[in-house]
Amino acid sequence: MAQRTAVQVAVLGGGVVGCAVARQLAKRGKDVMLLEQSVVGSGVSAGNTGIACTMLGVPKDSLEHRCLSRALPRNVPTYRALGVPHRETGALYVAWTDEEAEALETLERSTEEVDLQRLSPEELKDMEPALSPSLGGVLVPGEVTVDPGLVVLAFAAEAHSLGAQIREHCEVSFAGRYGEAWLLQLPDETLLAEQVVSCTGLSAALWDFSELWFQPRRGDYLLFQRPSPHSLAPLGRPIGAVPTPHARGVYVWPTVHGDVLCGPTNVPQADQLLPKPSDATLDALRRKAISVCPALAGWPVAGSYAGLRPALADTFGTDYLLNSSKNWTSISGVRSTGLTASLGIAQEVLERLTNAADGRLPDESPEGSAFRLPSLEQLAETYASSGCVEAAQRRWYVAHPPTGLQEARAVHGSGRRRGGSRQAE
Ligand SMILES: Cc1cc2nc3c(=O)[nH]c(=O)nc-3n(C[C@H](O)[C@H](O)[C@H](O)COP(=O)(O)OP(=O)(O)OC[C@H]3O[C@@H](n4cnc5c(N)ncnc54)[C@H](O)[C@@H]3O)c2cc1C
Repeated sequence: MAQRTAVQVAVLGGGVVGCAVARQLAKRGKDVMLLEQSVVGSGVSAGNTGIACTMLGVPKDSLEHRCLSRALPRNVPTYRALGVPHRETGALYVAWTDEEAEALETLERSTEEVDLQRLSPEELKDMEPALSPSLGGVLVPGEVTVDPGLVVLAFAAEAHSLGAQIREHCEVSFAGRYGEAWLLQLPDETLLAEQVVSCTGLSAALWDFSELWFQPRRGDYLLFQRPSPHSLAPLGRPIGAVPTPHARGVYVWPTVHGDVLCGPTNVPQADQLLPKPSDATLDALRRKAISVCPALAGWPVAGSYAGLRPALADTFGTDYLLNSSKNWTSISGVRSTGLTASLGIAQEVLERLTNAADGRLPDESPEGSAFRLPSLEQLAETYASSGCVEAAQRRWYVAHPPTGLQEARAVHGSGRRRGGSRQAE
């Protein structure tokens, strides 16, 4: 007979949201099991930019706004506490055409709550000498570049170190009511959970009680690799196109590990398939990157990757939906800001669960951590020998391409730098 296990809270999905939720619940002493059908961090969270953004362009009075405003004061202290590589450089949004200069004016006028610093073309050139001549721009000091793969890993590893069970290759194929609880079908057993939190990204429609309809938006990226392990990136911070209410546009930016990325595109699609970026797209991204920073013409292209934003169809008129019913909480439509907002989402979920359980609000205690990721050099050493990294006495697969552990070993450790391409898909 199939084995049956019981937990207080089952978290479905090991993306950045599920891992943040599992960590938050484990920090509050809950008995948590996280169930991931593949490996932690391999879904939408493996195909993003890695900018912990601000509230620029996020509609007020939205759930997304609330989650971001709760996350923003926590993000950098949490990255510091967990040892996640990040750079607090701010991001530049630059105008090259008259139309973009006009959009910049509108952006400045319409943005009250985000700190923006207007820069003349000369000031921009002083700040980023390798930038192609422009009409000026704005610096958004609050934007932070982070290693997005290691954020997920750190959340999961801290949750694990606090006692949460992390089950990978563990698809939940069915859920049914069992009294007040839920019975979940796992590959080799059934699980009885008092509460379920579904954070299933692109599969969220299957696990929500309302009729959701997704219209994913694809984003492609091109990776330029340092010509030599000690080459410095020609740019100091992300350079973005002027954002509009609908999209943030393509960035060119140095990763926290010193390579340079260009992307993402923003193309709606009907299905959830994610084939490799096309040659035409990669060529357009390369040309875009060189037009922003001509020095990149001398940098080798080392690979590409892509991600799918789990955007709800326009008819919903919103991103981010949080539904709770009968001890089942579901978060959906976490489209473009989930990496940044994940700690705020986790706080929202915690409140829902705590309210449901005993009517008391959880505390808003500052982010502290008894756990810290090993250094990049240590992670890179285990990665070189096993293709996985070790943290919190467990092995983890790192699914996000820009984490670049083989390069980290070449720069910091004793290994030789590998040539060839680093392809995500
Ligand atoms: C191109 C692009 C650029 C982006 N840039 C940024 C950025 O710069 N900054 C930012 O803040 N955000 C960014 N985002 C948004 C961010 O990446 C997402 O909001 C976030 O990763 C969503 O995380 P998630 O945990 O909801 O989903 P996922 O990472 O997809 O996690 C869901 C998990 O659920 C698992 N799952 C599904 N069904 C089951 C099941 N039945 N049983 C078990 N497991 C299951 C999946 O395998 C998956 O791992 C970007 C997104 C994209 C696509």
